[in-house]
Amino acid sequence: MMVKTRFAPSPTGFLHVGGVRTALFAWLVAKQAHGQFVLRVEDTDRNRHVEESEQHIVNSLDWLGIKPDEGPFRQSERLEIYQLWAQKLIKNGRAYADTTTEAELDKLRQAAKDAKKPFLFRHHRPEKSPAWVPGMSLRFKSEPKAYTWHDEVMGDFTSGQESIDDFIVIKSDGFPTYNFAHIIDDHLGGITHVIRSQEFLPSMPKFLNLYDALKINFPKFATLPYVLGADGHKKLSKRDGAKDILDYKRQGYLPGALVSFLATLGWNDGTEQEIFSVDELIEKFDLKRVGHSGAKFDEQRLLWVNGHFLRETPANKLSELAEPFWPANAKSSEALYKTAVLELVQERIKYLAELPELTSFFFEEPNDSTIYQLFTQPSDKQLKKLQLSELVTLLRASETELADSDFSLSDIETKLNGLLDKLATKPGILFAAIRIAVSGAKSSPQLFGTLNVLGKEISLARLKHARELLETKA
Ligand code: GLU
Repeated sequence: MMVKTRFAPSPTGFLHVGGVRTALFAWLVAKQAHGQFVLRVEDTDRNRHVEESEQHIVNSLDWLGIKPDEGPFRQSERLEIYQLWAQKLIKNGRAYADTTTEAELDKLRQAAKDAKKPFLFRHHRPEKSPAWVPGMSLRFKSEPKAYTWHDEVMGDFTSGQESIDDFIVIKSDGFPTYNFAHIIDDHLGGITHVIRSQEFLPSMPKFLNLYDALKINFPKFATLPYVLGADGHKKLSKRDGAKDILDYKRQGYLPGALVSFLATLGWNDGTEQEIFSVDELIEKFDLKRVGHSGAKFDEQRLLWVNGHFLRETPANKLSELAEPFWPANAKSSEALYKTAVLELVQERIKYLAELPELTSFFFEEPNDSTIYQLFTQPSDKQLKKLQLSELVTLLRASETELADSDFSLSDIETKLNGLLDKLATKPGILFAAIRIAVSGAKSSPQLFGTLNVLGKEISLARLKHARELLETKA
C-alpha cells in the first residue's frame, strides 16, 4: 500500500515552528517511502477562521520545500460528504439530534463537578431526540469500551471505557467538527499515517470508537510531543512570542537551515550529527527515533545552524541571496566590492538581515562620536588601561607602517605583526585600536581582511581621522 501522510492545519493564523515541524515530519515519512503528502485545510471552525491564513500556510511550506502532492483542499468545500457519512451513523443508530442547550450543558457539567466525577455526555436524552435535520447539532452515540492501540512514536496505549462519551459530529451551522471530519477525510484520502501533535492524544479513545462505528480501519498513528518554549515547560505558542515562519524568510534565514533545525527538534539519527541536508533527512528520518517528551525551541541553536548553512553557501549564490539585505547606502557600490565584503562577513553572519549592522562601515564613514566613545569607554579591558595620548601614538605608528604597504592581505599581516614587535604591544591593544578607527563598530570582521577590502586610501584616511579626533580631545 502506498504510504500517504497529511498535514491538516486549521487556518486560524500564521504557521510557527511547531506546526511546520509536524508538516515536515509527515512529509519526510511520505518522501522516504516514495509515497504522497497531502495538504488539507481544516476550516470548519468559522469563528476562528482567518482569511489570509491558508495562503500563508501554502507560502510557508512552499518556502521550505515541503511540497504537497495533493491539495490544498478545504473541508468547507466537502460538507455534503460529511452529511453523507453522518447519515450512515444515523441509519445505524449511532448518532442523534442533540437539542441540549448551553444552559443545560452547564448544569450537567456542574452536576458532574459536584459529584467529583469527570463530565461525560452519554446519550443523555435519546428518547427525546427528534429526527435530525440540518440546522440541528448531531451527536455521536458512543459505545464506551476499553481500547489498546499502538503509536509509532509513543508506543502502546490502553484506555478504559471512561474515556469515551458522546460528542458532536455536525454542528448546528452545518459544519462538521474536527473529531468527525478528519476521520472521514483521512479515510477517503487513503491516509496511511496520521501524524499530529500531542494535543489530540487524550481524544484517541473517542476517535477509535468513531472509527469502529463508521467501520473504518485504523490508520497508523504517530503522536509528536510538543515543541516547548524557551523556558522548556510550556508549549511554544504565538502568545509567548513564537514567530511567523515567514519572518525567518524575511530576516534572511535559509530554508535548508530551518528544515535541518526543525528535523532535529525532537529527533536525532542516533549520532551527534546536528546538521542534515534534506536528502539525508529523507534517508535517515525515523518516527521511532522521535523523542517522547517535548523538545525545547532554542533560538540560539537555530542561529548557529543558520550560520552554518550561510557559511556553506557558494559565494555567487550568497551574493544573490544577500541582495535585498544590504544597507541602503550600499546600493551604489560595485558588485565586486559587495562580494568582497560579503566574503569577509560570511564567517560570522547568522542571518542576512544582520548585514547592515555588520557592514555599514564599508559603505559610509563611521560616526565620530561613536568612534570617540569606543576609544574612551572601550568594552575591552586591555584598551581601557590606555591614555588617549598612547592611543594616538598607536594610530600614528599604524599609519606610518601601512603607508608603506601594498595593501595585499599578506603584506598587511606582515606589516602589522611587525609593528606589534616594534611597539612591544599586544594584538588585543593595537589591533583593537585600528579596528575601532576604521570601523567605528564594536565588532567587525577579521581585521586584515577588513583593511584589505576597505583599501589603502580609505583605511589610511580613517586612521588619520580617528587620530586627529583623539588629538583634539587628548
Ligand atoms: N486541524 C488540526 C490542527 O490544526 C489538525 C490535527 C490533525 O493533524 O489531525 O491542529
